Amino acid sequence: MNLNDKISSLKGVGPKKAEIFAQNNIRTLEDLLYMFPRKYEDRRNTTRIKDIQSGKDYLISGKILSRRYKASPYKKNSPLSLLVGDETGTVEVVFFNGRYIANLFNINGEYTFYGRVTENFDRFQMIHPEFFRAGDPNDIRGIIPVYPVMKGISQNEIRKLQIQLKPLYEQLEEWLPDELVKSNRLASPAYAIENIHFPKEGRQMKEAKFRLVFDELFTLESGLCYMKNDSRKDSGGIAIDTSAADEFINSLPFRLTSEQMKVWKEIEKDLSSDKVMNRLIQGDVGSGKTVIAQLCMFLCARSGYQSVIMAPTELLAKQHLASFREAFRILNINVELLCSSMKTREKTDVLNRLKSGEIDILVGTHAVIQPDVIFNNLGMVITDEQHRFGVNQRSILSQKGKNPNVMVMTATPIPRTLAVILYGDLDISQIREMPAGRKPVKTIVANGDNRNRVYDFVKQQLSRGKQAYIVAPLIEESDRIDAKSAEELYKELTDKLKGHNVALLHGALGQSEKDKIMDDFVKGNIHAIVSTVVIEVGINVPNATVMVIENSERFGLAQMHQLRGRVGRGGDQSYCFLICHNESKIAMERNEIMASTTDGFVIAEEDLKLRGPGEIFGTRQHGLPEMHISDLIRHGDVLEKAKNIAKELIDRDPNLSAPELAELKQRIKKMFGENIKIEL
Ligand code: ADP
Ligand code: MG
Repeated sequence: MNLNDKISSLKGVGPKKAEIFAQNNIRTLEDLLYMFPRKYEDRRNTTRIKDIQSGKDYLISGKILSRRYKASPYKKNSPLSLLVGDETGTVEVVFFNGRYIANLFNINGEYTFYGRVTENFDRFQMIHPEFFRAGDPNDIRGIIPVYPVMKGISQNEIRKLQIQLKPLYEQLEEWLPDELVKSNRLASPAYAIENIHFPKEGRQMKEAKFRLVFDELFTLESGLCYMKNDSRKDSGGIAIDTSAADEFINSLPFRLTSEQMKVWKEIEKDLSSDKVMNRLIQGDVGSGKTVIAQLCMFLCARSGYQSVIMAPTELLAKQHLASFREAFRILNINVELLCSSMKTREKTDVLNRLKSGEIDILVGTHAVIQPDVIFNNLGMVITDEQHRFGVNQRSILSQKGKNPNVMVMTATPIPRTLAVILYGDLDISQIREMPAGRKPVKTIVANGDNRNRVYDFVKQQLSRGKQAYIVAPLIEESDRIDAKSAEELYKELTDKLKGHNVALLHGALGQSEKDKIMDDFVKGNIHAIVSTVVIEVGINVPNATVMVIENSERFGLAQMHQLRGRVGRGGDQSYCFLICHNESKIAMERNEIMASTTDGFVIAEEDLKLRGPGEIFGTRQHGLPEMHISDLIRHGDVLEKAKNIAKELIDRDPNLSAPELAELKQRIKKMFGENIKIEL
């Protein structure tokens, strides 16, 4: 038996089950070994029935004293109720699907049950517990691992497979340098794996977990330090002459805020030296990041370099194009657009002029990273709303030039501690203040009952010449999910808002239709847009003063915050209505947070508490590798430790070339995949 053997080599795993495992990224025995329990059940001892309490999980043993199951000719299924007793008391065990299991229980037979005890009037019940007849080999006692749920494979099956893997433990060798193991008192890999699956006591489980969390976070931090170092050691960057900065700043119709100035000073230091800039600009929607991007790109142009900004949607790219052209009108700088919906002739023209160096600034979508896009001398690349792009796309863009300066703009105001992890290879600048004169958006929570009053208010605003966004979570009516779809909503609102032009905007429309609608909205010909979340990013219409979010319970905090940022962009008071059709605790909590603050950083912290980092950026798409066992918040102390050790290590050995680090490199490669360039 070998770590690299296929999972189908195990007894009990045929092609069908192997396929289910594969869908969960488990292909080899090693993968299965590293599929860790998500929790444990304490089934070391049975509890006497008189000692059980409501609300907890128990293992009990007893005799079936009575059995009640009445098959009904009208219903497929009726509940089965068992009275189970030991020497100390009785408890009722209930199965709602009685028909299928009624015959498994004999009066006076001995059984064990494991499950949650609840109180129903005057008696204790166990509803749908796991059960075993006395002597059943599956009735395992001890601390029982509970694995992630996989449709089609039961917990018992996974446990049995893990037992089959036990002979592999001796193949797990120590892979960290000795001194590191000693100074951190780490358990051995074999001990860790054995005790994460089959701990005998809590202490062993903790030791095992610490080792595995450390392994994961140390690999993460080593990879991040390696990348960061890699991008720095190159001094062969492009130095930009920043002396013309005032020319641009003075041409603006407003003064930069002190936060914008602070960030500009940080950028200026990077840009004017020949070190390659790698900087993340974090700032709430509307905080004025785009102006900073324009300033940088202006200076590139003045220094004879080209620059490019990549936006996640065509809508946004086109809005950038318009605002850039406006900003550069009198400064004699050539801005062009590139996106996939353009006609071939237009595209070819842009590509040719880009290659010849005639175009100073390129604004575009993913189209700008296609292989046929060739720059003459690229000095800077900017990605807008980076959380939509993978690290990989960012690096393809950089490779279009010779060490161009890199700037990433994001409106996701994640806490700095996490930003450092998520964007480990970047320096971070934050804009934490809105331009003066902005009134914070008023946020009002409504429900189905006062929904009509919300739209009366919207109508009033439209009558005053203001504009509104109404957002629905889905495009088409669905029986399965009871949510107002955009189309249904659109029909309703054309009626409710009679006398005003209402348009429907959603992702399934063709590009030219979308553009036409947005264009008409910007010009004021359309007064209200009913939309799915395609307006989420970047759109800027200062005359829009109302944002209505229908079925707000379907939106996350970060998403609602982004949406709300579409309004409050002009001098007038703006409003955001959250229409919530669900009174679940989490929905109410989210609404409350939205109503109480407009500070994106506060919202981000709360979001983190409610959802955990896994859900916010657990996926590869966000550039952060998936963690199997660690929790970046809960294991913050281990993370800190791992970071310091990794930093020291990289300082001493920037290429991780020492032979005892070979396995670390392998693990970094496995964790970061194509997001890292590392020589093995
Ligand atoms: P972001 O990209 O951070 O969402 P933008 O750069 O698009 O924000 O700025 C939003 C709006 O605020 C734009 O209309 C912009 O012209 C304006 N703006 C930016 N900086 C300032 C400032 N310092 N004072 C007044 N208005 C500003
Ligand atoms: Mg922006």
